[in-house]
Amino acid sequence: MGARTLPAQPWPEASPLRRLPLVTLYLTERCNSRCVTCDYWRHGRADVDLASVARMLPHLAQLKTQVALISGGEPLLNPQWSQIAALLHAHGLRLWLLTSGLSLAKHARQAAGLFDAITVSLDGTDRETYVAIRGLDAFDKVCEGIRAAASAGAAVSVRVTVQRANYRQLSGFVALARELGARQVSFIAVDVANPHAFSRRDDFTADLALAPADLPILAGIVDGMERDLGEEFRSRMIAESPRRLRRLHQYFAAVCGLGPYPPVRCNVFDYSAVIGATGRVSPCFFIPGPSQAPADDSLPQALNSDAMIDLREQIRSGGRPECLRCVCSLWRDPGERDAGDFLIRRSISA
Ligand code: SF4
Ligand code: SF4
Repeated sequence: MGARTLPAQPWPEASPLRRLPLVTLYLTERCNSRCVTCDYWRHGRADVDLASVARMLPHLAQLKTQVALISGGEPLLNPQWSQIAALLHAHGLRLWLLTSGLSLAKHARQAAGLFDAITVSLDGTDRETYVAIRGLDAFDKVCEGIRAAASAGAAVSVRVTVQRANYRQLSGFVALARELGARQVSFIAVDVANPHAFSRRDDFTADLALAPADLPILAGIVDGMERDLGEEFRSRMIAESPRRLRRLHQYFAAVCGLGPYPPVRCNVFDYSAVIGATGRVSPCFFIPGPSQAPADDSLPQALNSDAMIDLREQIRSGGRPECLRCVCSLWRDPGERDAGDFLIRRSISA
């Protein structure tokens, strides 16, 4: 497990940040899932309100923001989610919803009208696996939501957090996503190395990662997918390339102490930021930003405070341990930051 740094890159943007093409807004810290990987559902309380989003609009315009990723917690639990989405939509933002899908069936038509893309977390291809991972007997409900949103015309994708309980189902997810009407499925390794992900506060000891005996099985599964699902890779029904999927194997091998973590190349903090439900601004999902004034009153200032600039420099120079084991590093060249680059097809190839 050798320590690695982010590779040196020519850096076109200088701090401070003048543009923010992508913003992630957490509408709430509350969640109706019970994922074993996550503490939001245990501790989350805060909701964003419509007025605070309205105050943010001039700042998003100033920063030329094009896409808002609407997340949380479970964003559809915010009682004002549709008004907030409508407000952002009316101001020209393209919207991408990241949801557990538990209430998507109920809101499918409205969501399809407001969101340019909808990504649903689905961590099992059957009821038993879903319950084991998500803590709720809601597999059928989530599938119903995906189907309903897709039928209403939404561009729906499925995101799978790969872990020991579901890695044998990888190709099954592709078939299920297609059957439900989703346009894409993407795979990301469960994050067992980062204490800040998912707002975790307690010791995180759940046995989620693959064990050494699982590794050859995973390798065989990815080989089989490459052999049998060529069209799904070519059409990007599967968001990742086979090579990218093999990073899952490398990641879990590293967790087992059998090799280095996959190399990380990331500049997400130079074109994006995460605004939490309490207004805290962070450079990415995994690294908390400095505590400071609510973002709705001062987003450009929060992005360009001395503390935030220092934090970005730390990340850039390879000084943050979170980056070394990141499951979701995201590099985009300046020419790849239009709205279409963040929505389905190119949005979830982590
Ligand atoms: S991982 Fe997401 S869906 Fe699961 S409890 Fe946490 S916030 Fe909710
Ligand atoms: S923690 Fe991951 S997403 Fe965040 S800056 Fe580092 S590599 Fe990028």
